[in-house]
Amino acid sequence: MNKSEKIFELAKKYESYTATNLSKLIQLKSLSMGEKEVASLIKQMMENAGFDEVKIDGLGNVIGRIGNGKKVIALDGHIDTVDLGNLDAWSFDPLGGEIKDGFVHGRGSVDQTGGPAAFITAGKILKEIGLENDITVYFVASVMEEDCDGLCWKYIVEEDKIRPDCVVVTEPTNLNIYRGHRGRMEIEVSFYGLSAHGSAPERGKNAIYMASKAALEIEKLNEKLIGDPFLGKGSVTISEIVSSSPSLCAVSDFCKFHLDRRLTKSENKELALKQVEEIVKGMNTKVELLNYKEIAYTGLEYGMEKYFPTWVIDEDHHVIQNGVKSFTDLFGSKPKIDKWTFSTNGVTINGVYGIPVIGFGPGNEIMAHAPDEKVPIEHLVKASAFYAYYCYIF
Ligand SMILES: [Zn+2]
Repeated sequence: MNKSEKIFELAKKYESYTATNLSKLIQLKSLSMGEKEVASLIKQMMENAGFDEVKIDGLGNVIGRIGNGKKVIALDGHIDTVDLGNLDAWSFDPLGGEIKDGFVHGRGSVDQTGGPAAFITAGKILKEIGLENDITVYFVASVMEEDCDGLCWKYIVEEDKIRPDCVVVTEPTNLNIYRGHRGRMEIEVSFYGLSAHGSAPERGKNAIYMASKAALEIEKLNEKLIGDPFLGKGSVTISEIVSSSPSLCAVSDFCKFHLDRRLTKSENKELALKQVEEIVKGMNTKVELLNYKEIAYTGLEYGMEKYFPTWVIDEDHHVIQNGVKSFTDLFGSKPKIDKWTFSTNGVTINGVYGIPVIGFGPGNEIMAHAPDEKVPIEHLVKASAFYAYYCYIF
Protein backbone atom coordinates (compact mmCIF):
# COMPACT_ATOMS: atom_id res chain seq x y z
CA MET A 1 0.00 0.00 0.00
CA ASN A 2 1.49 3.39 -0.93
CA LYS A 3 1.42 6.41 1.39
CA SER A 4 -1.68 8.09 -0.06
CA GLU A 5 -3.67 4.87 0.24
CA LYS A 6 -2.39 4.30 3.76
CA ILE A 7 -3.33 7.85 4.83
CA PHE A 8 -6.81 7.69 3.26
CA GLU A 9 -7.30 4.30 4.93
CA LEU A 10 -6.47 5.77 8.35
CA ALA A 11 -8.72 8.78 7.74
CA LYS A 12 -11.59 6.35 7.07
CA LYS A 13 -10.68 4.31 10.14
CA TYR A 14 -10.93 7.49 12.26
CA GLU A 15 -14.24 8.63 10.72
CA SER A 16 -16.24 8.39 13.93
CA TYR A 17 -13.37 9.83 15.99
CA THR A 18 -13.42 12.94 13.75
CA ALA A 19 -17.21 13.23 13.73
CA THR A 20 -17.44 12.78 17.50
CA ASN A 21 -14.75 15.41 18.13
CA LEU A 22 -16.65 17.87 15.94
CA SER A 23 -19.90 17.06 17.73
CA LYS A 24 -18.28 17.85 21.09
CA LEU A 25 -16.93 21.16 19.78
CA ILE A 26 -20.35 22.20 18.43
CA GLN A 27 -21.94 21.59 21.83
CA LEU A 28 -19.85 24.38 23.37
CA LYS A 29 -21.16 27.72 22.16
CA SER A 30 -18.17 29.75 21.01
CA LEU A 31 -18.81 33.32 19.91
CA SER A 32 -15.88 35.64 19.18
CA MET A 33 -14.05 36.57 22.43
CA GLY A 34 -15.92 33.69 24.12
CA GLU A 35 -13.80 30.80 22.80
CA LYS A 36 -12.21 29.84 26.13
CA GLU A 37 -14.04 26.53 26.69
CA VAL A 38 -13.70 25.35 23.10
CA ALA A 39 -10.02 26.32 23.11
CA SER A 40 -9.27 24.21 26.16
CA LEU A 41 -11.21 21.26 24.71
CA ILE A 42 -9.20 21.51 21.49
CA LYS A 43 -5.97 21.66 23.47
CA GLN A 44 -7.03 18.47 25.24
CA MET A 45 -7.92 16.79 21.93
CA MET A 46 -4.52 17.67 20.44
CA GLU A 47 -2.75 16.35 23.52
CA ASN A 48 -4.75 13.11 23.43
CA ALA A 49 -3.92 12.73 19.73
CA GLY A 50 -0.23 12.71 20.71
CA PHE A 51 0.90 16.10 19.35
CA ASP A 52 4.51 17.00 20.24
CA GLU A 53 3.51 20.28 21.90
CA VAL A 54 0.30 22.23 22.47
CA LYS A 55 0.04 25.73 23.84
CA ILE A 56 -2.39 28.62 24.02
CA ASP A 57 -0.97 32.02 23.10
CA GLY A 58 -1.71 35.45 24.56
CA LEU A 59 -4.65 36.09 22.26
CA GLY A 60 -6.12 32.64 22.98
CA ASN A 61 -5.13 30.80 19.78
CA VAL A 62 -4.47 27.10 20.37
CA ILE A 63 -1.25 26.10 18.62
CA GLY A 64 -0.33 22.44 18.35
CA ARG A 65 2.93 21.30 16.82
CA ILE A 66 4.20 18.10 15.23
CA GLY A 67 7.75 17.78 13.95
CA ASN A 68 10.70 20.07 14.26
CA GLY A 69 12.00 20.48 10.74
CA LYS A 70 13.14 23.40 8.61
CA LYS A 71 10.09 23.71 6.38
CA VAL A 72 7.11 25.06 8.26
CA ILE A 73 3.45 24.49 7.35
CA ALA A 74 0.48 25.71 9.35
CA LEU A 75 -3.10 24.50 9.17
CA ASP A 76 -5.47 27.26 10.26
CA GLY A 77 -9.09 26.95 11.39
CA HIS A 78 -10.99 29.52 13.43
CA ILE A 79 -12.94 28.21 16.41
CA ASP A 80 -15.32 31.11 16.98
CA THR A 81 -18.71 31.03 15.29
CA VAL A 82 -21.44 33.54 14.60
CA ASP A 83 -24.53 33.49 16.82
CA LEU A 84 -27.49 31.16 16.22
CA GLY A 85 -29.88 33.69 14.67
CA ASN A 86 -33.63 33.00 14.69
CA LEU A 87 -34.09 29.59 16.34
CA ASP A 88 -37.40 29.05 14.50
CA ALA A 89 -35.42 28.85 11.26
CA TRP A 90 -33.55 25.75 12.48
CA SER A 91 -35.06 22.28 12.08
CA PHE A 92 -32.63 20.83 14.65
CA ASP A 93 -30.79 21.99 17.77
CA PRO A 94 -27.93 24.25 16.56
CA LEU A 95 -25.87 23.31 19.63
CA GLY A 96 -26.84 19.62 19.61
CA GLY A 97 -23.95 18.37 17.47
CA GLU A 98 -26.16 15.54 16.29
CA ILE A 99 -24.49 12.88 14.12
CA LYS A 100 -27.11 11.49 11.76
CA ASP A 101 -27.65 10.53 8.11
CA GLY A 102 -24.02 11.09 7.21
CA PHE A 103 -23.83 14.63 8.64
CA VAL A 104 -22.66 16.39 11.77
CA HIS A 105 -25.28 19.01 12.57
CA GLY A 106 -24.93 22.41 14.18
CA ARG A 107 -23.58 25.94 14.29
CA GLY A 108 -19.94 26.02 13.28
CA SER A 109 -19.96 22.59 11.61
CA VAL A 110 -19.23 24.26 8.25
CA ASP A 111 -17.94 27.67 9.40
CA GLN A 112 -15.72 26.27 10.57
CA THR A 113 -14.99 23.87 13.41
CA GLY A 114 -15.14 21.04 10.87
CA GLY A 115 -11.70 22.20 9.70
CA PRO A 116 -10.03 21.90 13.13
CA ALA A 117 -11.82 18.59 13.83
CA ALA A 118 -10.40 17.24 10.56
CA PHE A 119 -6.89 18.57 11.15
CA ILE A 120 -6.68 17.10 14.66
CA THR A 121 -7.27 13.72 13.01
CA ALA A 122 -4.62 14.60 10.41
CA GLY A 123 -2.19 15.18 13.28
CA LYS A 124 -3.08 11.83 14.80
CA ILE A 125 -2.43 10.18 11.41
CA LEU A 126 0.92 11.99 11.00
CA LYS A 127 2.02 10.84 14.45
CA GLU A 128 1.11 7.30 13.47
CA ILE A 129 2.93 7.18 10.13
CA GLY A 130 5.73 9.59 11.08
CA LEU A 131 6.91 12.68 9.18
CA GLU A 132 9.76 11.76 6.85
CA ASN A 133 10.61 15.18 5.43
CA ASP A 134 12.40 17.92 7.36
CA ILE A 135 9.17 19.61 8.37
CA THR A 136 7.30 21.33 11.22
CA VAL A 137 3.52 21.38 11.17
CA TYR A 138 1.56 23.87 13.29
CA PHE A 139 -2.12 23.20 13.88
CA VAL A 140 -3.72 26.56 14.64
CA ALA A 141 -7.18 26.79 16.16
CA SER A 142 -7.57 30.55 15.90
CA VAL A 143 -9.87 33.05 17.59
CA MET A 144 -11.91 36.23 16.84
CA GLU A 145 -12.11 35.59 13.08
CA GLU A 146 -15.84 36.29 12.80
CA ASP A 147 -15.31 39.67 14.45
CA CYS A 148 -12.09 40.69 12.69
CA ASP A 149 -10.70 38.32 10.06
CA GLY A 150 -6.94 38.07 10.10
CA LEU A 151 -6.41 39.62 13.56
CA CYS A 152 -5.40 36.25 15.07
CA TRP A 153 -2.66 35.84 12.47
CA LYS A 154 -1.36 39.35 13.09
CA TYR A 155 -0.74 38.14 16.64
CA ILE A 156 0.76 34.80 15.54
CA VAL A 157 3.24 36.42 13.12
CA GLU A 158 4.12 39.50 15.19
CA GLU A 159 3.96 38.19 18.78
CA ASP A 160 4.33 34.38 18.57
CA LYS A 161 6.98 34.94 15.87
CA ILE A 162 5.67 32.07 13.76
CA ARG A 163 6.02 32.71 10.04
CA PRO A 164 5.25 29.52 8.10
CA ASP A 165 6.31 28.80 4.52
CA CYS A 166 2.71 27.91 3.75
CA VAL A 167 -0.69 28.11 5.47
CA VAL A 168 -3.63 25.86 4.66
CA VAL A 169 -6.82 27.78 5.48
CA THR A 170 -9.47 25.20 6.35
CA GLU A 171 -12.58 27.36 5.86
CA PRO A 172 -15.26 25.55 3.82
CA THR A 173 -14.43 25.05 0.14
CA ASN A 174 -16.70 22.07 -0.57
CA LEU A 175 -13.44 20.12 -0.95
CA ASN A 176 -12.34 22.36 -3.82
CA ILE A 177 -9.00 24.12 -3.79
CA TYR A 178 -9.31 27.87 -3.27
CA ARG A 179 -6.57 30.36 -4.00
CA GLY A 180 -7.88 33.79 -3.05
CA HIS A 181 -10.72 36.20 -2.47
CA ARG A 182 -11.49 39.92 -2.64
CA GLY A 183 -10.34 42.19 0.16
CA ARG A 184 -12.35 44.79 1.98
CA MET A 185 -12.08 47.88 4.14
CA GLU A 186 -14.29 50.11 6.25
CA ILE A 187 -14.11 53.84 5.66
CA GLU A 188 -15.91 56.62 7.50
CA VAL A 189 -16.43 60.06 5.99
CA SER A 190 -17.40 62.96 8.27
CA PHE A 191 -18.82 66.24 6.92
CA TYR A 192 -18.60 69.43 8.97
CA GLY A 193 -21.13 72.16 8.14
CA LEU A 194 -22.23 75.33 9.86
CA SER A 195 -25.42 75.57 11.83
CA ALA A 196 -27.87 78.47 11.61
CA HIS A 197 -31.50 79.01 12.53
CA GLY A 198 -33.81 76.80 10.46
CA SER A 199 -35.80 79.88 9.50
CA ALA A 200 -32.77 81.27 7.61
CA PRO A 201 -30.89 78.30 6.09
CA GLU A 202 -28.91 80.59 3.76
CA ARG A 203 -26.85 81.69 6.77
CA GLY A 204 -25.57 78.14 7.41
CA LYS A 205 -23.88 75.36 5.54
CA ASN A 206 -25.85 72.12 5.63
CA ALA A 207 -23.69 69.05 6.32
CA ILE A 208 -26.45 66.72 5.08
CA TYR A 209 -26.44 68.40 1.66
CA MET A 210 -22.66 68.03 1.49
CA ALA A 211 -22.90 64.34 2.35
CA SER A 212 -25.76 63.81 -0.09
CA LYS A 213 -23.79 65.24 -3.00
CA ALA A 214 -20.86 63.03 -2.08
CA ALA A 215 -23.17 60.01 -1.70
CA LEU A 216 -24.34 60.33 -5.31
CA GLU A 217 -20.71 60.42 -6.42
CA ILE A 218 -19.98 57.27 -4.40
CA GLU A 219 -22.77 55.56 -6.33
CA LYS A 220 -21.10 56.58 -9.60
CA LEU A 221 -17.69 55.48 -8.30
CA ASN A 222 -19.09 52.00 -7.71
CA GLU A 223 -20.01 51.71 -11.39
CA LYS A 224 -16.54 52.79 -12.50
CA LEU A 225 -14.56 50.35 -10.35
CA ILE A 226 -12.36 47.85 -12.12
CA GLY A 227 -12.86 44.12 -12.42
CA ASP A 228 -10.62 41.07 -12.42
CA PRO A 229 -11.37 37.90 -14.41
CA PHE A 230 -10.73 35.64 -11.40
CA LEU A 231 -11.79 37.69 -8.37
CA GLY A 232 -14.51 39.83 -9.91
CA LYS A 233 -15.14 43.54 -9.52
CA GLY A 234 -14.32 45.91 -6.69
CA SER A 235 -17.35 47.62 -5.13
CA VAL A 236 -18.34 50.37 -2.77
CA THR A 237 -21.60 51.11 -1.01
CA ILE A 238 -22.83 53.35 1.78
CA SER A 239 -24.00 51.16 4.63
CA GLU A 240 -25.05 53.86 7.10
CA ILE A 241 -25.56 57.59 7.29
CA VAL A 242 -26.07 59.64 10.46
CA SER A 243 -26.36 63.35 11.10
CA SER A 244 -26.74 65.83 13.92
CA SER A 245 -27.91 69.33 14.46
CA PRO A 246 -28.31 71.63 17.50
CA SER A 247 -32.09 71.42 17.09
CA LEU A 248 -34.71 70.18 14.66
CA CYS A 249 -35.19 73.88 13.86
CA ALA A 250 -31.60 74.35 12.70
CA VAL A 251 -29.31 73.68 9.76
CA SER A 252 -27.48 70.36 10.26
CA ASP A 253 -23.83 70.94 11.08
CA PHE A 254 -22.60 67.36 11.06
CA CYS A 255 -23.11 64.28 8.92
CA LYS A 256 -21.13 61.10 8.37
CA PHE A 257 -21.43 57.96 6.34
CA HIS A 258 -19.90 54.52 6.52
CA LEU A 259 -18.52 52.86 3.40
CA ASP A 260 -18.25 49.13 2.78
CA ARG A 261 -15.52 48.87 0.16
CA ARG A 262 -14.68 45.52 -1.48
CA LEU A 263 -11.30 45.39 -3.17
CA THR A 264 -10.32 43.35 -6.17
CA LYS A 265 -6.85 42.48 -7.44
CA SER A 266 -4.53 45.53 -7.65
CA GLU A 267 -6.83 47.70 -5.51
CA ASN A 268 -5.39 48.68 -2.13
CA LYS A 269 -6.20 51.04 0.74
CA GLU A 270 -4.21 53.98 -0.68
CA LEU A 271 -6.18 53.82 -3.93
CA ALA A 272 -9.54 53.38 -2.20
CA LEU A 273 -8.96 56.31 0.18
CA LYS A 274 -7.73 58.54 -2.65
CA GLN A 275 -10.88 57.86 -4.66
CA VAL A 276 -13.05 59.02 -1.76
CA GLU A 277 -10.84 62.03 -0.99
CA GLU A 278 -11.15 63.02 -4.63
CA ILE A 279 -14.94 63.07 -4.30
CA VAL A 280 -15.03 65.26 -1.16
CA LYS A 281 -12.26 67.62 -2.27
CA GLY A 282 -13.07 71.22 -1.32
CA MET A 283 -15.57 70.19 1.38
CA ASN A 284 -14.77 70.38 5.08
CA THR A 285 -14.45 66.64 5.73
CA LYS A 286 -12.45 63.87 7.34
CA VAL A 287 -11.91 60.56 5.51
CA GLU A 288 -10.84 57.78 7.87
CA LEU A 289 -9.92 54.13 7.68
CA LEU A 290 -11.49 52.68 10.85
CA ASN A 291 -9.74 50.67 13.55
CA TYR A 292 -10.75 47.48 15.30
CA LYS A 293 -9.99 46.91 18.98
CA GLU A 294 -11.43 44.28 21.33
CA ILE A 295 -10.60 42.30 24.43
CA ALA A 296 -9.82 38.63 23.77
CA TYR A 297 -11.05 35.95 26.20
CA THR A 298 -7.55 35.95 27.69
CA GLY A 299 -8.06 39.57 28.77
CA LEU A 300 -5.67 40.96 26.19
CA GLU A 301 -6.77 44.05 24.30
CA TYR A 302 -5.68 43.85 20.68
CA GLY A 303 -6.58 45.41 17.38
CA MET A 304 -5.71 46.43 13.85
CA GLU A 305 -6.94 48.73 11.13
CA LYS A 306 -10.06 47.60 9.29
CA TYR A 307 -8.19 46.96 6.09
CA PHE A 308 -8.37 43.39 4.90
CA PRO A 309 -6.25 43.19 1.75
CA THR A 310 -7.12 41.19 -1.35
CA TRP A 311 -5.05 38.09 -1.86
CA VAL A 312 -4.65 35.67 -4.72
CA ILE A 313 -2.05 32.95 -5.30
CA ASP A 314 -1.00 31.90 -8.82
CA GLU A 315 -2.39 28.56 -9.88
CA ASP A 316 1.09 27.23 -10.67
CA HIS A 317 2.49 28.18 -7.23
CA HIS A 318 3.92 25.23 -5.29
CA VAL A 319 1.39 25.52 -2.44
CA ILE A 320 -1.50 25.17 -4.92
CA GLN A 321 0.17 22.47 -7.02
CA ASN A 322 1.00 20.50 -3.86
CA GLY A 323 -2.74 20.61 -3.15
CA VAL A 324 -3.62 19.45 -6.66
CA LYS A 325 -1.18 16.55 -6.32
CA SER A 326 -2.51 15.65 -2.85
CA PHE A 327 -6.09 15.62 -4.09
CA THR A 328 -5.29 13.62 -7.22
CA ASP A 329 -3.14 11.02 -5.42
CA LEU A 330 -5.72 10.56 -2.67
CA PHE A 331 -9.02 10.67 -4.53
CA GLY A 332 -8.08 9.81 -8.11
CA SER A 333 -9.55 12.90 -9.78
CA LYS A 334 -8.56 16.50 -10.49
CA PRO A 335 -9.80 19.10 -7.96
CA LYS A 336 -11.73 22.19 -8.95
CA ILE A 337 -9.75 25.39 -8.33
CA ASP A 338 -11.76 28.41 -7.29
CA LYS A 339 -12.08 31.29 -4.77
CA TRP A 340 -14.12 32.22 -1.69
CA THR A 341 -17.01 34.66 -1.87
CA PHE A 342 -16.42 35.67 1.75
CA SER A 343 -13.28 36.80 3.55
CA THR A 344 -10.88 34.65 5.61
CA ASN A 345 -7.71 34.88 7.70
CA GLY A 346 -5.88 34.91 4.35
CA VAL A 347 -6.25 38.73 4.43
CA THR A 348 -3.37 39.03 6.86
CA ILE A 349 -1.55 35.72 6.27
CA ASN A 350 -1.05 36.48 2.58
CA GLY A 351 -2.53 39.97 2.12
CA VAL A 352 -0.31 41.57 4.79
CA TYR A 353 2.58 39.15 5.40
CA GLY A 354 2.90 37.57 1.94
CA ILE A 355 2.85 34.00 3.29
CA PRO A 356 1.54 31.64 0.57
CA VAL A 357 -1.97 30.32 1.32
CA ILE A 358 -4.07 27.48 -0.03
CA GLY A 359 -7.71 26.96 0.92
CA PHE A 360 -9.21 23.53 1.40
CA GLY A 361 -12.03 22.68 3.78
CA PRO A 362 -15.05 20.50 4.48
CA GLY A 363 -18.60 21.75 3.90
CA ASN A 364 -20.23 24.14 1.49
CA GLU A 365 -19.72 27.84 2.11
CA ILE A 366 -23.38 28.60 1.30
CA MET A 367 -24.21 27.05 4.72
CA ALA A 368 -21.95 29.53 6.55
CA HIS A 369 -23.91 31.81 8.92
CA ALA A 370 -27.15 30.13 7.76
CA PRO A 371 -29.70 28.06 9.72
CA ASP A 372 -29.57 24.24 9.49
CA GLU A 373 -25.79 24.33 9.10
CA LYS A 374 -24.40 20.78 8.73
CA VAL A 375 -21.31 19.17 7.27
CA PRO A 376 -21.05 15.84 5.42
CA ILE A 377 -18.96 13.31 7.37
CA GLU A 378 -17.47 12.20 4.06
CA HIS A 379 -16.00 15.72 3.72
CA LEU A 380 -14.45 15.51 7.20
CA VAL A 381 -12.80 12.19 6.35
CA LYS A 382 -11.45 13.45 3.03
CA ALA A 383 -10.23 16.71 4.58
CA SER A 384 -8.35 14.85 7.33
CA ALA A 385 -6.66 12.68 4.68
CA PHE A 386 -5.87 15.76 2.57
CA TYR A 387 -4.30 17.70 5.46
CA ALA A 388 -2.12 14.76 6.52
CA TYR A 389 -0.97 13.91 3.01
CA TYR A 390 -0.44 17.57 2.03
CA CYS A 391 2.00 18.01 4.93
CA TYR A 392 3.54 14.61 4.38
CA ILE A 393 4.59 15.35 0.77
CA PHE A 394 5.17 19.14 1.08
ZN1 LIG B 1 -15.36 31.42 8.83
